[in-house]
Amino acid sequence: MITSSRHPALLLRRISMLVGLAALLSLTSLLPAHGRQAPSAVEITLGTSTQGRPITGVRVGNGPRKLVLVGATHGYPERNTFELVAQLAAHFTAQPEAVPATISLYIIPLLNPDGLELQTRFNANRVDLNRNMDTSADDCPENDWQHIVAGAYGIPVDTGGPYSESEVESRLIRDFLLDADGVVFYHSNAGVVFPACAHEPSITLARIYADGAGYVFIPKWDRYPITGGMHDWAGGLGIAAITPELITGELPEFEQNLGGVQAILATAEGILPTAEPRTEAGVEVHPIIWRAWKAWGGAAIFGQPLGPARQTGDGWAQLFERARLEYRPGLSSAPTSVRSALLGRELFAPPENVPEAPTPDAHFFPETQHNVRSPFSDFWQINGGLPIFGLPLSAEEQSTDDAGNPVIRQIFERAVLQRPLERASVADVTLAPLGRLEWAQEDAQSVETSIKAR
Ligand SMILES: [Zn+2]
Repeated sequence: MITSSRHPALLLRRISMLVGLAALLSLTSLLPAHGRQAPSAVEITLGTSTQGRPITGVRVGNGPRKLVLVGATHGYPERNTFELVAQLAAHFTAQPEAVPATISLYIIPLLNPDGLELQTRFNANRVDLNRNMDTSADDCPENDWQHIVAGAYGIPVDTGGPYSESEVESRLIRDFLLDADGVVFYHSNAGVVFPACAHEPSITLARIYADGAGYVFIPKWDRYPITGGMHDWAGGLGIAAITPELITGELPEFEQNLGGVQAILATAEGILPTAEPRTEAGVEVHPIIWRAWKAWGGAAIFGQPLGPARQTGDGWAQLFERARLEYRPGLSSAPTSVRSALLGRELFAPPENVPEAPTPDAHFFPETQHNVRSPFSDFWQINGGLPIFGLPLSAEEQSTDDAGNPVIRQIFERAVLQRPLERASVADVTLAPLGRLEWAQEDAQSVETSIKAR
């Protein structure tokens, strides 16, 4: 069989590639820092895949504009994009001066390590990561997320995922890109470059990349519909996003794509849009905080903004009805630079943790010794899990909501989940209005302070 005879050679080649990349990545931390400048290349880790493989990359340059290159979203069949992006990482790590001072270039060779290892296009849950995003923020309803999708060659398959952004790999790249200005998602093998749907900065970026690489610019992928695609998700949030499709499924096509990357680096200042503030319910929302609010569920989850963003010691914070979202630019090499604050812990943490024993009907969190039951467990998982809500800090308990109605509630690090006493579907779960609570406390404090000042 073709597959079995080709396999050992490919495996060896892949291992040597991986070893080469690993050596490269560990070397970067040994590079001398020039004077008081930041190191020229820094290793980054977004997190781990469904099967626990690390998703890593490098940052070259330290400028204010964040440009990201992403390889091998489609795993094994498009492994030449992994090879390409690994070669680009090696190239720019060796020549950091090729990155303009205004740019931070982030290079992530392998977004889908499980797919590469398992020799599939999908992730380990058999989900197509480039059909799994919530693309409802853009102006193109025809590309919105679906469970049944047009997969490779347009063949319909049920690989959009159980719901949008269900996969850890999708959520890791989503959260990492919240403060990005531009992103290139590499695929193969059609020899074209196309932009996020109806997004002018993406269209400009795609044209410039196609010219530099010698690929064909097309305004839209027209062979079959792509729903829930990463480029459309990014464009919907105002990030210039393109998908180059390498010509072959075998070769990295390094010289062409280096030409494409060089073309966008040379013009980045003019073509990468900087994030703009948005207005929601009459309140101006910080541009990066707005992206997180929107990407993580918007008003339905966090409520509307209560007031303008305020500068903190290391960034910005903005209160919404049910959360405080914080943007810290200094975290941009970390998994994400935006967080939902620890309001559950700050405002509600029980003075003493009373541990629970694991029960079979619940998901048990050994870190804090608490059970989380349906529908809270489903709500927690579907809407982003640990990074958004944190760990449980209490057992379920009976309480009252802010209108005095009886509820079942459970305190988490970053939120308090609640539902009416008699109703227990996921749709009945909401976040308690911790933002409003903090807003009221600050109001009371400032009244007190102004009285004292008099
Ligand atoms: Zn692909």
